[in-house]
Amino acid sequence: MRSVIEGIKRYEKLHRPRYTERFATLASGQHPQAMFIGCADSRLVPNLLASAEPGELFVVRNVANLVPPNEGDRTAEPSVAAAVEYAVEVLRIADIIVCGHSGCGGARALLEPPPSLEAVRRWLAPASASVELWRTRGPLDPSYAEHDQLSQVTTLHQLENLLTYPCVRDRVERGELRLHACWFDIPAGRLLAYSETAGRFIPAVDALEPPEPSRPVHGGGRRVGVEAPQVDAR
Ligand SMILES: [Zn+2]
Repeated sequence: MRSVIEGIKRYEKLHRPRYTERFATLASGQHPQAMFIGCADSRLVPNLLASAEPGELFVVRNVANLVPPNEGDRTAEPSVAAAVEYAVEVLRIADIIVCGHSGCGGARALLEPPPSLEAVRRWLAPASASVELWRTRGPLDPSYAEHDQLSQVTTLHQLENLLTYPCVRDRVERGELRLHACWFDIPAGRLLAYSETAGRFIPAVDALEPPEPSRPVHGGGRRVGVEAPQVDAR
């Protein structure tokens, strides 16, 4: 806790004065453009990766960056559903980013469910569908270790789960909402994003930036980034 207290002191002294005006403006409400659904892992820092200021990202985090599929009243866990509904229906965000990462303890637990962690096992249970996808269709990028391969497949699969929410599907179909799968390679310190063109995760700066007509684009000039209707869950 000592480092947290020291951090709070640094915030008061160094950062709070710098943000006075911004927070005064934000006091009247938030208007984030993007929702970020990421793993709870301490090494994944969404605002750092997106250079995002307060008010710019609507963030949900949980073990293994899961979006439980919508099953109406039977939806396994409603907190993610509530956040998605609020972000889409009230905040009218334009993009949802699901972000996993290398060395994910949640992905390891999917491979070897920890017998003593009952809540973790229950939380991860809906992700067994991702394990099945990984086993039957194989990895997106075999150069990674098995748990990282599974993390990538799981992360991408969450876009399909997002589409089980009518509010998400409706806005995606109207072209008002885009879904993206990102993955943070911790040893490289690099954010990757799934490219349909490449069929795997590539540097996010290449995958997420819309190609300019005159510029040769990674992967032969095809469209990059992920729009939900084209996702095939692998
Ligand atoms: Zn993780």
